[in-house]
Amino acid sequence: MRVVLLGPPGSGKGTVGERLERATGFPRISTGDLLRKAVREGTPLGRLAEGVMQAGGLVSDDIVTGIVRERIAEADCRPGYILDGYPRTAAQAEALRRIDGGRPEIAVELDVAEETIVSRLSARRVCPSCQAVYNLRSRPPVRAGACDACGAALVQRPDDRPEAVRERLRVYRDRTAPLREAFRARGVYRAVGGEGEFEAVAAGVLAAVAAARSAGGEKGRP
Ligand code: ADP
Ligand code: ZN
Repeated sequence: MRVVLLGPPGSGKGTVGERLERATGFPRISTGDLLRKAVREGTPLGRLAEGVMQAGGLVSDDIVTGIVRERIAEADCRPGYILDGYPRTAAQAEALRRIDGGRPEIAVELDVAEETIVSRLSARRVCPSCQAVYNLRSRPPVRAGACDACGAALVQRPDDRPEAVRERLRVYRDRTAPLREAFRARGVYRAVGGEGEFEAVAAGVLAAVAAARSAGGEKGRP
């Protein structure tokens, strides 16, 4: 089984994906996290991706597909895996079908209005040391400005600045949202409201995935 998490930036894919990972045991593969790690470590790939990411654009299909291809070849992905942030373009969706097309899948899109996204992302802060994520309104750290887990000073992601957020939303609308139709045509698309309480949103996603797994997508074919 493969779970594809769709949803605009700031829709909560990361947090929901972590919950789903614990519930299913399937590893969550976040291309954004993998790219940010490469940037932090200053690898050649990271140096290539950094500028594009800061501006809110898309890293090239070949690069991202290469990362995903390597990751899903690992043994822990054999029973199933969760994709958070991939595919994001038609070319990536095609590449995924070439790499691992036979696997049953479900695509769950978190539905969140643009105003909500802009307000969430402007309040998001991250720990540069342990990567914990906070929100000044809905999930503030205990001590203002400091990470609960490790005490480091929290920062804003460069691509959470307003100009970059606008670009990311535009990219989502133009390049990623159209993928819905292909998933829908294959009968594997589900939309889940992403605006409510986190627990309710997570429960909606877990229920959609559980239904897809028991519908037989699992049997015999991982
Ligand atoms: P969000 O979903 O909140 O925009 P992510 O952490 O998923 O954030 O991604 C951050 C950035 O990483 C993207 O804006 C883009 O530059 C890059 N990125 C992540 N996944 C992909 C992908 N599949 N294709 C191209 N670029 C990607
Ligand atoms: Zn920390």
